[in-house]
Amino acid sequence: MSNDTLMHIQRLLTDSNPPSLEGEFAESVELTKLHDDILTVREILTAFANDDFSVSIEKSGVVFDNLRTLQEHINSIFILMQLVEQGNFSQQYPLTNSFSIAFNRMMSQFDSTLSSLKDEEKASQERESHLKYLADHDPLTGLMNRRAFMEKALGVLKMAVLKGVSCGIVMIDIDFFKKFNDTYGHLAGDEALKHFVEVISRTMRKDDFLGRYGGEEFVFFFCKADKKTGIAIAERLRETLAHSPVLLDVGPVSLTASFGVAMASDVKATTIDEKFIENLIHNADIALYQAKNTGRNKVVAF
Ligand code: GH3
Ligand code: MG
Ligand code: MG
Repeated sequence: MSNDTLMHIQRLLTDSNPPSLEGEFAESVELTKLHDDILTVREILTAFANDDFSVSIEKSGVVFDNLRTLQEHINSIFILMQLVEQGNFSQQYPLTNSFSIAFNRMMSQFDSTLSSLKDEEKASQERESHLKYLADHDPLTGLMNRRAFMEKALGVLKMAVLKGVSCGIVMIDIDFFKKFNDTYGHLAGDEALKHFVEVISRTMRKDDFLGRYGGEEFVFFFCKADKKTGIAIAERLRETLAHSPVLLDVGPVSLTASFGVAMASDVKATTIDEKFIENLIHNADIALYQAKNTGRNKVVAF
């Protein structure tokens, strides 16, 4: 091989501008092929160095085959990385080269870590909503407790007033409940409280709601009713309860309650706050007190 030939090959490998096909190289078929092959390798490597892995490698032979394999590896890395970017760890890339195998193992690891994180998050949300439920509800009857009731009543009343709907509150207190406990025992008393809630719940209209105010006192909220209708609603609850005895081991035992109704009519939404609800409850309590003092098992409106 002449010095010129060696120089030409050297320049093909190292110069930034490769020499053109000329002289000896243009004349010999083998040298032309060598020149073209080196040039093609240069072009492929330049494309790779410039982040272009889509170049099509058509020639065959060890060098080209290996470049094609390298290209496939790199393209497979891109596809795997796109899957990860989309949060998709569950699909495995179907190549069997060691990089893909390691990457797929990592994806499986991510996938199981992600799903255990999701499980943990779900469990924590469930714990949180269970704690919220416990904080808002009375464990014996499952009703909203006083605070949760007040919160709900405040929201519902504000909305109702904005729509020009009249609402009211009924304070309910079971009659002679101390005597009930003394006669039938505290557990029977608990049963009676649950029975009371069951009777009122199945008798009330669907949008009305009941809360346990404390002990054997309950608070009831209704809307879309004027005073006359409010009294009629309370009267229906009273009467149904009076005709629904508690079934104890000793037999059916009558249970009655007294009802005090207070209306929230002619109010502006801006005046409705916690104090307003407390005052409404206070008025209903005054009516309830009157119901107690005038014979019990009755409805009195403020
Ligand atoms: P009145 O007709 O004037 O309302 O008389 P009362 O006996 O119902 O009222 P009082 O306030 O004297 O007694 C209420 C009773 O309710 C006393 C208390 O032990 C009972 N009580 C409160 N909470 C519970 C409960 O969760 N379970 C049971 N079994 N009893 C309760
Ligand atoms: Mg009572
Ligand atoms: Mg009481």
